[in-house]
Amino acid sequence: MTREEAQLRITTLTNELNKHNHLYYVLDQPEISDFEFDQLLEQLIQLENQFPELRSNASPSQRVGGTVTKEFTAVKHKYPMLSLSNSYSTDDMLEFDRRVREGLGLTNGSLFDDATVEYVCELKFDGLSIGITYENGELVRAVTRGDGVQGDEVTTNVKTIRSIPLTLHGHYPTTFEIRGEIFMPRPVFEAINKEREEIGDAPLANPRNAASGSMKIQDSKVVAARKLDCFLYNVLGEDIPFQTHFQSLEAAKSWGFKVNHHARKCHGIQEVMAFIEYWDKERFQLDYDTDGIVIKVNDYRQQRALGFTAKSPRWAIAYKFKAEQVSTLLEKITYQVGRTGAITPVANLKPVALGGTTVKRASLHNADIIAKLDVREGDTVFVEKGGEIIPKIVGVDLGKRSEHLVPTVYITHCPECHTALVREAGEAAWFCPNDTGCAPQVKGRIEHFVSRRAMNIDSLGAETIDQLYEAQLIKGIADLYDLKMEQLLPLERMAEKSATNLLAGIKASAEVPFERVLFSLGIRHVGETTAKKIARKMRSLEALMHADRETLLAIDEVGEIIADSLLAYFAEPAHRELLERLKAAGLKFETEAPAGGTSEKLKGLTFVISGVFERHSRDQLKEMIELHGGKNSGSISGKTNYVLAGDNMGPEKLKKAQSLGVKIISESDFEALLAQNEI
Ligand code: AMP
Ligand code: ZN
Repeated sequence: MTREEAQLRITTLTNELNKHNHLYYVLDQPEISDFEFDQLLEQLIQLENQFPELRSNASPSQRVGGTVTKEFTAVKHKYPMLSLSNSYSTDDMLEFDRRVREGLGLTNGSLFDDATVEYVCELKFDGLSIGITYENGELVRAVTRGDGVQGDEVTTNVKTIRSIPLTLHGHYPTTFEIRGEIFMPRPVFEAINKEREEIGDAPLANPRNAASGSMKIQDSKVVAARKLDCFLYNVLGEDIPFQTHFQSLEAAKSWGFKVNHHARKCHGIQEVMAFIEYWDKERFQLDYDTDGIVIKVNDYRQQRALGFTAKSPRWAIAYKFKAEQVSTLLEKITYQVGRTGAITPVANLKPVALGGTTVKRASLHNADIIAKLDVREGDTVFVEKGGEIIPKIVGVDLGKRSEHLVPTVYITHCPECHTALVREAGEAAWFCPNDTGCAPQVKGRIEHFVSRRAMNIDSLGAETIDQLYEAQLIKGIADLYDLKMEQLLPLERMAEKSATNLLAGIKASAEVPFERVLFSLGIRHVGETTAKKIARKMRSLEALMHADRETLLAIDEVGEIIADSLLAYFAEPAHRELLERLKAAGLKFETEAPAGGTSEKLKGLTFVISGVFERHSRDQLKEMIELHGGKNSGSISGKTNYVLAGDNMGPEKLKKAQSLGVKIISESDFEALLAQNEI
């Protein structure tokens, strides 16, 4: 491909990607599959690697991250980032409205018939505020609020947020700044925490901290994985062509920004109050957090007339929702043991209504917090529903404490297996170290082992695991592979059909590739992606077990914590024994040697892979090509020898291949090619 052709293709791909990105992340109306999207993106990345000088600063390839910011530079805000004054009640709001009307000369004896003010009400998003500057329709800079006068430049990280456009469309001002709030959607927050829990990492505290913490991460690839989102709500600049704030929101939408569609124009303060009342209840249905409503005078001329105090605009106010709080009796403190052995103290409450649900249990976090709050069984406690899913105890109503209550002494031994608890330096939680003999740990590990993304034994649910464990048929993962029909049949609710399914499911798991077997073991800190990277690099359990720290650290994504966790895992005799038994059961402990090993059969040949395949992943195919001396390329050119095409080959690629007369082969053709002796 010539430089000109590449440039043309890059432009087309960029436009396509920007369009589909907007359709997906802003409008929520995707037109192509994620897979097709990734394909286009991959094509672009490969082209840019081939022609680095053609990579633009606004390229969609920046979305995947990869740049590491050593230190975020401080940047002075062109327009100070003020805060808003707060209000908490109807009276506060009426007072705000009165001041606004007074400031505009609309109160008593006014000449105007209609002395109401038009406001715009918006949800107040609970995240971190950001100011993004665009020049000639291109994102050039993103700065955090900082102290309001200057903030940190986080442009690279912000570019990974898919709903923030890198280039704009329509009639936008040449230079302007747009402000908004970066947040982590609740489903993303929950998924990340589930994953973290699975690999024994401390969960992120709440979506707001998760969002602001992510912006400070130096490696933008990690930021990209956090799947942040952003609502924009304020356009600033020298010549902004609007009369009202609401018009500016509509315009921002048309330029490609994600503007929250719950914003409303309200005529007078009564309509504002109705809006507030509605969202006070409905906010729990949203999949992002709001902590209030922001009310702004709509008309820009009126905004200018009102002006600013030193701290905040006089034409806007934030109404803060009361964090829903109730008080109830703390009946008992119990302790839960998780899959990783972490102990969680739980407050068992007298049932109470809170935020639309009945709450019976609340989190007490950890020993330190219990001590700090001095919570005791029998206390009347305040329970709050904050950003977290599980309500939490925020304090004790000391006025109601009876003198007989005894201070809480945190447990020293595991409530399940009575082993003495341990606490590592720097960890908030206590752990039960008995990972091979503590029921919830063993059962939890088996549940993880059979789960869909691990060994995927779906004929074995949590209840059956419980049953098998109670009947002492399984004491650990390896015992699954020794289960016999005659042991299962006597169990309650176990018909012949389900027993057969169960055994078949277990047997079939022998086909699961090494990378997933490795993930299934539940080694602390070794998540799905990490397991994949380790398996691909080390290729066998044998090699992995004998790898030293240095070797482990050389693996992509493996840092000191993971390396040490692996070393500790393999040093444990019980684990070695377990692995021996799993090996004997026939589980895969090696990455599949690519068919035919290595050779020079494809020497001098360049391949382009496109589409999805039946028997191999794209990565496997690429690896096979390399192992046999061939080369992979991302785009078809006169130098391409073969296009290896699966289902859904991109139409562009097909056209290109045909026009250049490049031979298109299927997965079977490719296998045949490798099987041949001479080609
Ligand atoms: P505060 O930090 O409590 O003074 O509230 C002001 C902050 O609320 C602003 O700096 C923004 O970060 C944030 N905010 C969230 N949603 C909005 C919105 N729709 N309009 C204006 N500010 C908002
Ligand atoms: Zn225990």
